[in-house]
Amino acid sequence: MKIYNTMSKRKEEFVPIEEGKVRMYVCGPTVYNLIHIGNARPMIFFDTVRRYFMYKGYDVNFVSNFTDVDDKIIKAAQEEGVDASVISERYIAECKKDMEGMNVMPATTHPLATQEIGGMIDMIRELIDKGFAYAVSDGTVYYRTRKFREYGKLSHKNLDDLQSGFREIKVTGEEKEDPLDFVLWKPKKEGEPFWESPWCQGRPGWHIECSVMSKKYLGEEIDIHGGGEDLIFPHHENEIAQSEACSGHPFAHYWMHNAFLNIDGQKMSKSLGNFRTVRDISEHYDLQVLRFFMLSAHYRSPLNFSADLMEAAKNSLERILTCADKLKDLAETAAGEELTEKETEDLKTVIGFQDKYEAAMDDDLNTADAIAALFEMVKFLNTTVTEESTAAYVGEARAIFLKLCDVLGIITDRKEELLDSDIEALIEERTQARKDRNWARADEIRAQLLEKGIVLEDTREGVKWKRA
Ligand code: AMP
Ligand code: ZN
Repeated sequence: MKIYNTMSKRKEEFVPIEEGKVRMYVCGPTVYNLIHIGNARPMIFFDTVRRYFMYKGYDVNFVSNFTDVDDKIIKAAQEEGVDASVISERYIAECKKDMEGMNVMPATTHPLATQEIGGMIDMIRELIDKGFAYAVSDGTVYYRTRKFREYGKLSHKNLDDLQSGFREIKVTGEEKEDPLDFVLWKPKKEGEPFWESPWCQGRPGWHIECSVMSKKYLGEEIDIHGGGEDLIFPHHENEIAQSEACSGHPFAHYWMHNAFLNIDGQKMSKSLGNFRTVRDISEHYDLQVLRFFMLSAHYRSPLNFSADLMEAAKNSLERILTCADKLKDLAETAAGEELTEKETEDLKTVIGFQDKYEAAMDDDLNTADAIAALFEMVKFLNTTVTEESTAAYVGEARAIFLKLCDVLGIITDRKEELLDSDIEALIEERTQARKDRNWARADEIRAQLLEKGIVLEDTREGVKWKRA
């Protein structure tokens, strides 16, 4: 299996540190808001990487953090007049709901930065002892960037070029030795959460948390470290500087980065107002569609989100689900334990599509080509699996098909749950039926919704609904 390594800028054969095991760390979101569909891209992609390794028989230890201490969280807490933990706990819970909707498996461990402060203080102390960090008089601790000779090796940046980029920026605090130095620990400001430390009451910088959590839950040397491409510099570069200065050996063997998700051809950002949360999308689509849409492109290609592409993803996914339905129905009714001669040949063809799918995934997780192979399989199964097929053929073909769907995280058992938009459309139809004095239809809709656990309440402001 080949993986593109940002460090070497080429595809490399994957060789695990320990046979049969994969240790991977993926930088998780900062929890001050509902996650947006950009955040969903690394979640969905790296979950698929994990699933593919599992499919290949690896035992995967998958760690992904929640950054629950950060300026943006503190700001949101101040605006609401609540403790920062109220904000972070709320959005961790919401993020987990979105992950479930997208069928992203919970990580083996989801560490929280605020629960790992002791480890961060230990690592900062070690960096100071080794001469890689220094504290200044207000208690800020900086990493001495130039001391780490290999700084810039991941982002392929040269220290002197970086230095010139800083020319215009005034060094904050007279005592900072070099503009390139970054913060490991900073003093608290009024009203901010803080922890005791040998340097001052304060809180950690962002980069140190991942070095510490990765080491604690996966060990000093890991197989894969992942995240969105915006994290290459400075976040991952700084993680390398911290971790390798302490351990003296490579931090991660493979660095994987997903490209960005844009929206209607533009960068998605709050200032442009084209920001979409996963929750927004869930009101109109099953989040399975969002997942399928994300995987329809190669992870290193920028991906554009648009209504048209989501509709196309919905239709494509539907073809897969229809095939799954048919296989399920026929598996229940078919008989015959032995493959016919033709079926033996057909099964070879099915396995050929499976090989094609695996070849695509082995080539740097090319989910786009893997999906194309899956569609070839669907087309073939649609013609070769019939009422006349033996249980042996239906069973074997179906098992292969379901395994490949599962790697992509496609849930083939249809959910009965209604989407918000479906519910609202039915309510509208009921309102119209009542206007038309078609009481039978109105009652029928109410009963139909109730059966799915949706309770309607007629109020003066209109019809309200809730999930029972
Ligand atoms: P953040 O909460 O900003 O630290 O982001 C969490 C993860 O989402 C990181 O891996 C980011 O690289 C990734 N990410 C943020 N925005 C996008 C985007 N528009 N497209 C793809 N990945 C993104
Ligand atoms: Zn990180």
